[in-house]
Amino acid sequence: MTHHVIVGGGPAATNAVETLRDLEPDAQITLVCDEPAHSRMALPYWLADQIPREQTFTGDASYFERLGVDAKIGVRARGLDTGAKSLALDDGSTLGYDRLLIATGSSALGLPVPGADLDAVQPLWSLADTESALATVSGKSDPRVVLVGAGFIGFIVLNAMHKRGWNLTVVERESHVLPRMLDARAAAIVEDWLDRRGVTVHTGTSVAAFEGGNGAGTQVQLESGESLAADLVIVATGVKPNLEWLEGAGLETGAGILVDDHMRTSADGVYAAGDVAQGPVLGGNEREIHAIQPTAIDHGRVAAANMAGGDVAYPGSLSMNVLDVCGLQCASYGRWDDAAAERVTIDNPREHVFRDYAFTGDAITGAMFLGRARDLGMLTDVGMVKGLMQTATALGPWKDYLARNPFDVRRPFVATKVAAKLAGTTLLGRPSRGRGYHHQGLGEFGPTIGPAHVPFMSTRPS
Ligand SMILES: Cc1cc2nc3c(=O)[nH]c(=O)nc-3n(C[C@H](O)[C@H](O)[C@H](O)COP(=O)(O)OP(=O)(O)OC[C@H]3O[C@@H](n4cnc5c(N)ncnc54)[C@H](O)[C@@H]3O)c2cc1C
Repeated sequence: MTHHVIVGGGPAATNAVETLRDLEPDAQITLVCDEPAHSRMALPYWLADQIPREQTFTGDASYFERLGVDAKIGVRARGLDTGAKSLALDDGSTLGYDRLLIATGSSALGLPVPGADLDAVQPLWSLADTESALATVSGKSDPRVVLVGAGFIGFIVLNAMHKRGWNLTVVERESHVLPRMLDARAAAIVEDWLDRRGVTVHTGTSVAAFEGGNGAGTQVQLESGESLAADLVIVATGVKPNLEWLEGAGLETGAGILVDDHMRTSADGVYAAGDVAQGPVLGGNEREIHAIQPTAIDHGRVAAANMAGGDVAYPGSLSMNVLDVCGLQCASYGRWDDAAAERVTIDNPREHVFRDYAFTGDAITGAMFLGRARDLGMLTDVGMVKGLMQTATALGPWKDYLARNPFDVRRPFVATKVAAKLAGTTLLGRPSRGRGYHHQGLGEFGPTIGPAHVPFMSTRPS
């Protein structure tokens, strides 16, 4: 009987487990993870007080039992011997495998400045981080929070804190916010939006030091000379793949573990998936880390199908970031910053509307969007442009049409039959299924729909 071992408990790991069990009902499966299985993406909803901690979980003991998985939760893998096909665990035991999936994700980078070890200075990356942020502001009616780093994850956390009504200040080293998602024109619209909502933004300066006692509040000293008072500081200046435990294992790595289109690493029987894996990119020859949940899910499913003896090639991930910035919807896809691309841009700062399509030949290869949540046309266009890019659709004469009518994506989308192409596309060659885990066994749209579901449910009758 094949023994599959999975290290990790995030979306790459849980999707791999479900796929493996589906394809190999009799295989032995062991999962090792130092945290409970959960979705980091759900942490901001807990921070915003929209769900309790437990609703960030994506698997519990009975779920793993039902799937026949030996789940070693709270245990870390600390070494890998690919010759002996064995893992060393931090409880002192070793674990042999026939096939191994490394899905250890990434961790938040710290800030190498004096005072970064103060209790009130922390990342917001894990269950423990969320718990400690909530404890730090507990009992304060209007906590002052400084967010250091205005990137995708930082702004997801900012949005959650804005829902709480906390007093927010952002510090970004680059000259504008969301520098890896938006160009300067689009970012200026976001900064104006935040200013009107009472969020102070400092760009083009970084933190020199954190000072102060934990009880008395913290001072954030900026290189510009300014000083900001804070009850809590969230550092969101980047992440690094969790590779340290693999030192000496001999796996080929770049920024992450290098994998081919079957999610195979350079070692026999060893696969990698999710934030830790540097894999194929849709429509390109390079390999990149796309540290987002959809990529982790696809990686986990493809890796598992191949671990189970299949021959599934992954077409590659699309870089995509979709974000709610305190009510302003913001999306960017693909090579939005490609200087060689032909561009069509709508820039309307007064209405907080921005659109930019980047064309290579007659295909869209990058896009940026800003608009209000109530603008349903914008929200559906975001989805349709993603479909056009995922299917690498040649627009032909519809390119000129879109250039003249940038707000009418629907006609080119329908005329080029993208929906039919998407409907016929499956990752593993069969229809996808819903996940097998629901908190406390409740159905997806059961009677306990809480406020966190409202944004997804707003078109359904209550
Ligand atoms: C606050 C926040 C909000 C986010 N929001 C979004 C969003 O809106 N959209 C989106 O697409 N993405 C979002 N992301 C990113 C997304 O969560 C990640 O891309 C995703 O979690 C990656 O999944 P993974 O399975 O690769 O790794 P992870 O989810 O990081 O899971 C890896 C697990 O392995 C464990 N582990 C690590 N090393 C070891 C070891 N040696 N032994 C045992 N266990 C180990 C880790 O502790 C962790 O529990 C967000 C992330 C955060 C932090």
